[in-house]
Amino acid sequence: MGTVGKEIVGIDVKKLIEKLNQALADEWLAYYQYWVGAKVIKGINKDAVIAELIQHSADELRHAGMLADRIIQLAGTPLLDPKEWTEKSGCGYSAPKDPAVLKILIQNIKGEQCAIKAYKKLMDFTKDKDEITYQMAFEIMRDEVEHEEDLQALEEDLKIK
Ligand code: FE
Ligand code: FE
Ligand code: MG
Repeated sequence: MGTVGKEIVGIDVKKLIEKLNQALADEWLAYYQYWVGAKVIKGINKDAVIAELIQHSADELRHAGMLADRIIQLAGTPLLDPKEWTEKSGCGYSAPKDPAVLKILIQNIKGEQCAIKAYKKLMDFTKDKDEITYQMAFEIMRDEVEHEEDLQALEEDLKIK
């Protein structure tokens, strides 16, 4: 990365890169959880949910790209081995073993709630010290908040009989 670009970061860059790699692991797992969930899901009202899951999986993949770009900008290396995704993840992975629409929604809502908290923490960590990462975490968190709301709205619709 550029010398001054790194100088202006007022926090331990190594620690920051670790946190960004943790978020990167979370995004890949979230991407796959949505992607495979959209494939295996079953239930009468599945079509609207599938559309949302596919959109969200694309968003998570885009987030992974933003994180990897920032890691490289900070002269770090994004996780190179998928084995590290589960090892380094903060929010973990919930395999959609039960394909019922409601079960899949509940699993993904939990994931989004974890993501919102994780990005809030990253914002707190970088506030007034690394505006670029702060802004990125803000943008991603805004998507995660939208994701949670989308899924909870679908969950609510399913419960109205
Ligand atoms: Fe995300
Ligand atoms: Fe999300
Ligand atoms: Mg959505």
